[in-house]
Amino acid sequence: MTTESQLRADVVEVGRRMYARGYTASNDGNISVRLGDDRLLMTPRSVCKGFMTPDMMCITDLDGRKLQGDRDPSSEMLMHLEVYRQRPDARAVCHAHPPVATGFAVAGIPLDRAVLAEVLTTLGSIPIAEYATPSTSELPEAVRKYVKAHDGMLLANHGALTLGVDLFSAYYKLETIEHFAKISLVARLLGRENLIAREEVDRLQGLRTNYGIKAPAPICPDPTAVGDLLAGPDPVTCQVVQAPEGEGRRLVPSPIEPRGAVLADQSGPDGDEEIRLTYRELSTLIEDAIRSLR
Ligand SMILES: [Zn+2]
Repeated sequence: MTTESQLRADVVEVGRRMYARGYTASNDGNISVRLGDDRLLMTPRSVCKGFMTPDMMCITDLDGRKLQGDRDPSSEMLMHLEVYRQRPDARAVCHAHPPVATGFAVAGIPLDRAVLAEVLTTLGSIPIAEYATPSTSELPEAVRKYVKAHDGMLLANHGALTLGVDLFSAYYKLETIEHFAKISLVARLLGRENLIAREEVDRLQGLRTNYGIKAPAPICPDPTAVGDLLAGPDPVTCQVVQAPEGEGRRLVPSPIEPRGAVLADQSGPDGDEEIRLTYRELSTLIEDAIRSLR
């Protein structure tokens, strides 16, 4: 059994690592961990996470009432409480503003492409919760939509949020998200992403049980399958992963163009222009066409 004093020391250590790795600046970020079934140990508001001491922490109940501590609990306490409410299996929650992942959150680009096998087997996809004013009740509402099916998510124009079966598991997921964001950024700067094919994604998902990984939800079936095209996959019940059909190949050059980009610059030999659309743009076009037929 982990003692309270050990957990206080662990929160200090995770805060130190978050600050040292540049995931937080100034007083950003917050950390909480369950103390038994009905209490939380939580970082206080307005302190730099790189220089905390064990005695600074607050103890609250699961409704956010402060039970112990000289300081007030984190200004994002409502978001933490919502995660514990929706995920009884969560023992710890980390929130920070890692700059590359947050860049994706600002650009509105979820980390949902099938790129790295480790990410697919552990986190699955990393969606973006809709923008909400920090520290208000809007933020837990935005998080609620995704938290049942995901252990990690981006928060639009804000940062990243992770949870885990213990404190270091939640923290390492934050590291994984930032690492994944860096690799994705470099691949996109290089101008090419080879995506893992849908069949291989299914195979990797099957390995989750072999590795003892308890993912909160399965990866969605192929979103391009007949019947799913208009409805799209549901991020509430499964993890949306962009993976093209491999047709025998395990890696497929990405057919996905940067979001919002409709390219019409490739003239064929007969002067016809090729227009490439993202899956979302194509879905929108089809929906609009159907609407205009009615
Ligand atoms: Zn924040």
